[in-house]
Amino acid sequence: MTSAAASLLKVSFVPVYRDNYAYILQTKCGAIGVVDPGEAEPVIHTLDDMGLVPDYIFVTHYHWDHADGVAELKSYYPSAKVIAPDIEKQKIDIVDVPVRHNQILAFGKQRVRVIATPGHTLGSTCYYFEEGKAVFTGDTLFSLSCGGLFEGTPEQMYSSFEKLKALPDETLLYCGHEYTRASAGFCLRVDPNNSDLKARIEQVKDLCNKGLPTLPSTIGMEKKTNVFMRLNSAKEYRELRQRKLSY
Ligand code: ZN
Ligand code: FE
Repeated sequence: MTSAAASLLKVSFVPVYRDNYAYILQTKCGAIGVVDPGEAEPVIHTLDDMGLVPDYIFVTHYHWDHADGVAELKSYYPSAKVIAPDIEKQKIDIVDVPVRHNQILAFGKQRVRVIATPGHTLGSTCYYFEEGKAVFTGDTLFSLSCGGLFEGTPEQMYSSFEKLKALPDETLLYCGHEYTRASAGFCLRVDPNNSDLKARIEQVKDLCNKGLPTLPSTIGMEKKTNVFMRLNSAKEYRELRQRKLSY
């Protein structure tokens, strides 16, 4: 499955496990990347089919469903560089390029900005492709929901949301899981009169019925429809999280 995305960055979906997505990235200038290979075999299979060898492997956080394929990919493609959060490098099999907030990476001729988004895990990191206008958010931000707060504080998670809200509205959102349809009910419960949300849910149902990914979304769409992108304080996030936990 391939999404045209912005023409500068071609993004292909690789479904792994039950509802994770790994991604394969290609630029016009020939840089090849993989994002979040939770499982190596389906990623290698897709890369082989496409005749591609990755230059970079981006990891958003250390959880097994995002990082367990790293060692096998690296042994299959020894020249690929593994890019991962500095503070999680001990928890990931191989890290060649440990990264921190606001670091700029070169992906071929394109620029990738590292956005530290602690909360789901302390090292959770998003990768923003400036020319491709795409952000890979792992388990920090999903379409119509967000990741669980496993390690950070509500204040950290809220400030991570603020960083993502600051990206241009047209930024394409590629997250780590296909959770959109399952998240629609809670959003609608919290925000029952939101016509943008209702329209998005119809679109999501249609995509799911056709067996297609509900992604990419955009930052602008999430700001209009995702209740976690519509908060104004860490206190509001704390309350919404409680409400979701008891939903
Ligand atoms: Zn996770
Ligand atoms: Fe996950």
